[in-house]
This record gives sequence, structure tokens and C-alpha cells, in this order.
Amino acid sequence: MAKVTVNKETCIACGVCWALAPDIFELDPASGKTRVRDPYRKSDSDKESIGEIPENLVEAAKNAANSCPTGSIKVE
Ligand code: SF4
Repeated sequence: MAKVTVNKETCIACGVCWALAPDIFELDPASGKTRVRDPYRKSDSDKESIGEIPENLVEAAKNAANSCPTGSIKVE
């Protein structure tokens, strides 16, 4: 398992992470920013979306984090 955190304050909703890891990230229609998808989402606020993902998705999450133009995704 790995923890994924999206900083919704710095996310510019460019869509790169949705394209690279559609199983993990999606647009939050309320905020217009990225959030972690169900069933992985553990908490969600205006500031950040936090989730827990299984090992088989960690590489995709890291790839999205490395490609995010604003460095808004953290995988740990
Ligand atoms: S790649 Fe980064 S800036 Fe773009 S939508 Fe995802 S979290 Fe937001």
C-alpha cells in the first residue's frame, strides 16, 4: 500500500494525472481540481485529497506525480 496526496490548492486541473493514472485520479466536479478516486479515497477537502492505493498502482501513481507540472501529487 502507498499513500497518495493531491494538493488541491496547487493543482491546475491540467488532466495529466487523469490521463496517466485514470484508476487513481479524477476530476472533482465540486472543486474543479483533482481528487483520488473511490475506492482508494480516504479523505477529501478543499485543500487536499488523500488516498491509499495497492502496490500494483504505485508505479502509475509515481509516474503521474513525476509528470504533474505543479508537483501537486505526493506518493509515499
Ligand atoms: S497533473 Fe497535477 S496539476 Fe495536473 S490535474 Fe493532476 S494534480 Fe492537477
